[in-house]
Amino acid sequence: LLESDVALETAEKICNDLKENLVGREVKKKEIEKIIKETIKKSLEEILDQGEIDLAKEIKKKKPYLILFLGFNGSGKTTTIARLAHFLKKRGFTINMAAADTWRAAAIDQLEKHAKTLGVPLIKHKYGADAAAVVFDAMKHAQARGIDVVLADTAGRSHTNVNLMEELKKICRVNKPDLKILVVDSLTGNDAVEQAKAFEEAVGIDAVILTKMDVNEKGGAALSVTHTIKKPILYIGVGQEYDDLEKFDPKKIIKNLLE
Ligand code: GDP
Repeated sequence: LLESDVALETAEKICNDLKENLVGREVKKKEIEKIIKETIKKSLEEILDQGEIDLAKEIKKKKPYLILFLGFNGSGKTTTIARLAHFLKKRGFTINMAAADTWRAAAIDQLEKHAKTLGVPLIKHKYGADAAAVVFDAMKHAQARGIDVVLADTAGRSHTNVNLMEELKKICRVNKPDLKILVVDSLTGNDAVEQAKAFEEAVGIDAVILTKMDVNEKGGAALSVTHTIKKPILYIGVGQEYDDLEKFDPKKIIKNLLE
């Protein structure tokens, strides 16, 4: 498990489950391997099964539906927003984007580029502006034009940064997002757990999108993050193109981990 980048805490839980399920149990010698594998598989399934969210169904319940994207810089947040915009557009939803990472001028520019390519309106303020106000304006813009979904970027300096967490709390207080998605880089190993904990404690997470799964197919981060915050993984990022967003398949991860 550790070789597959599963966080230590999570690997320990799986080992303890295995112990609990096996100690004192009488099994035939030739079945030992099979039983151990089955028990590990069951434990992995339990961790990864955090329910599902049918995004299209959820979005239809409320208009405009606000999705807030959270995560560390470099995790793939901007790319993920663009990919989800593309995905939702293909399914007939109308969208706008809120450039609420006002800490980096480059973040606003990057999102704007995607918005232009995808033909989606972008709501932005000046660099350094109040992030909560940007999201608020994007919601007003969507209400006025009957837009279905608002996709809001947020800042992602170090998750230990208190100001950042305060800013995220304010965005949530003012705008009451319908869905808070944490974007996690699947290559970050143990740090993914720390990030998940910090964002969950500060604002609460509803779902996770794991990026860069094309680079790391083992998917230990999937296990660590779901075990830590007990929230479902909605999609995975599998490349740098707009279509590189896939539905999360726990079976595939389990197969990779047990191979
Ligand atoms: P942000 O700082 O969180 O907004 O991160 P970006 O969206 O700018 O992504 C950081 C880098 O990771 C960029 O070079 C992206 O092209 C790359 N990236 C994002 N998602 C994926 C993915 O699923 N697979 C791969 N291979 N690269 C990705």
